[in-house]
Formats: sequence, structure tokens, C-alpha cells
Amino acid sequence: MKKLSIIVPCFNEEEALPIFYKEINKISISMEKKCNFEYLFIDDGSTDNTLNVIKELSKKDKRVKYISFSRNFGKEAAMYSGLEKVTGDYIAIMDADLQDPPKLLEEMYNILENEDYDTVATRRVTRKGEPKIRSFFARRFYKLINKMSKIELVDGARNFRLMKRQVVDAVVSLKEYNRYANGIFSFVGFKTKWLEYENVKRIAGETKWSFWQLFKYAVNGIVAFTTVPLIISFILGFLFTIASSIMLIFLFINSVIFNNNVSGVFTVSSIVLFVSGIQLLCIGILGEYLSKNYLENKNRPIYIVKEDNLK
Ligand code: UDP
Ligand code: MG
Repeated sequence: MKKLSIIVPCFNEEEALPIFYKEINKISISMEKKCNFEYLFIDDGSTDNTLNVIKELSKKDKRVKYISFSRNFGKEAAMYSGLEKVTGDYIAIMDADLQDPPKLLEEMYNILENEDYDTVATRRVTRKGEPKIRSFFARRFYKLINKMSKIELVDGARNFRLMKRQVVDAVVSLKEYNRYANGIFSFVGFKTKWLEYENVKRIAGETKWSFWQLFKYAVNGIVAFTTVPLIISFILGFLFTIASSIMLIFLFINSVIFNNNVSGVFTVSSIVLFVSGIQLLCIGILGEYLSKNYLENKNRPIYIVKEDNLK
């Protein structure tokens, strides 16, 4: 019989976890003729009772495995450690807050079993229940990155997906420190089937993402998967060099040859401000790539384990 592993990143999910476990357990019972379940909960440095809740579950249910980090490393790190350690033939990633409907799991499993796909991914078609500006910026982000990057990122794509072993091995082989899962899944390729569903509200607790964190995550995604911004800064620099050369020639002809009264403090200062603004922007873009490179070069571990119950 095949083994289905479910990876659940958890950061302060003491309220949601028991509900999640109950729901996923129902699915495991309804699928028990098809496959064995394994749960791998990643406690991402929770400061509440999450780890104890998981430990209680693991006492009652031998299929429950866990890894607990020494501090909060972020969902990307949690997913990575899970993918690295799971033993299943089929591997799913699911949030603890039931925003990834467990009832889809059986359908996903059947697709991998009976159809010619390596992975089944999900996307939400609505962003209901999400702050309006968050949805707005999310949409702009996907438009922007898809224009710039060769890999295709799907708007509304969740990290909720079911993969065959081969896909997981490929994902784990990308050991970069600045991880952007959506991009990585797209990068590794394989035949993917997309399922769509309406956005579901979190069952308990609160979202762990502030607007600022999401913004940084978006920049991370862009820097990780395209170098087009560097070319933009190059083109801007090029255009401004040409424009200023023409202006200089114009000024020269005007003042030296025709003896006209040129300039004015206002004109000059606004040009200086404009050009130096563009320069700062370009240096900023450069710096973003450089800093990411700096972090990669340090070769720091993606996560640090404090304890686990894996053998
Ligand atoms: N999560 C995590 N580490 C973090 C932040 C979040 O492991 O630093 C987990 C969280 O417990 C949940 C999942 O990632 O299971 C998705 O988080 P959340 O629901 O806060 O994000 P949203 O659904 O609002 O995008
Ligand atoms: Mg959520």
C-alpha cells in the first residue's frame, strides 16, 4: 500500500491544530483502503502551546511525527524541512488553519493514481475575506513577476499540493536560502494539474502575515526568479546618459554660440534631483540582489531543529 505524507507548518496554531487533526483524520479514515497516512507537523518556533498539542497528538496517534525548530524560521523553512524529512510516496503540504480544504485530498490522490500527472496543485479563484488592498497588491505582484520572469507563477496559487516522490526530491535539491515556494514548484517543472476552489476563512487564530512581511516576500520572489530589474536599471541609466548629453550639447550651443541667457536654478535642481533619484533606485535594485547573494554565500542552514520524534 502507498504511503501519503502530509506536511503541516505550524506557527502558533494551538487553537486550529485540534480542529485540523479531527478533519484530516476523517479523510484518512475514508481513504484507509487506498493508502497509509503519515503526518509531519513542523513547529516553527511557536511561542504558544502548539508543540505540546502536537506531542499529545503523537502519543495518541503513532502516525503523527513532528519537528520543532529552535526559533521561528518562517513557513518556507518549515515546508523545506518537511519535504526533506518525509518518507511517503505521495506528499502533501497543508496549512493548519483549514484554509486548504482536506476534502480535496482524496480527489488529488485519485488524479495522481489514475491520470498522467506528477503533481496536483491548487489555486483559489476568489480572495474573499481578505483585506482589499492586500488582494490589490497581490494581483499587481503576479502581473509584474509574470511579465519579468521566464517561469510562470499562477495568481492565487496556494502551497497546498500533492506531489509524487520524484517532484519532492527535485524541490529539495534546490537548497537556496531565500526560498520562494511558488517559484520553486514552477521551476522544477513536471506535469501539474490545477484544481480551483473558493477562498476559505481561517478556522481559528490569526494570519501570521503582516502587509510588510508580504511585501518583503514578494520582493524575495522577484529577486529569486528574475534579473529583469537589473536590466531595467541599466536601460534607465542608458536613457539618462543620452538625454543629458543632448541637453549639454543644447546648452553649449545656446550659450557659447548664440550667447543666450540659459539656465535657472529651478531647472537645474529639479534635473539633479530627478537623476539622483533614478540613481538611488538603481542602486537599491542592485543592493537587493547583492544582499540576497550575500546571504546565499554564507551558506547558513535553512532551519535549526531543537527536537523531533523522527527515527
Ligand atoms: N506558518 C509557519 N511559520 C510562519 C508563519 C506561518 O509555519 O512563520 C504557517 C501557519 O501556521 C499556517 C501556514 O503557515 O499553517 C499559513 O499561515 P497563515 O494562515 O498565517 O497565512 P495566510 O493563510 O494568511 O496566507
Ligand atoms: Mg491561513
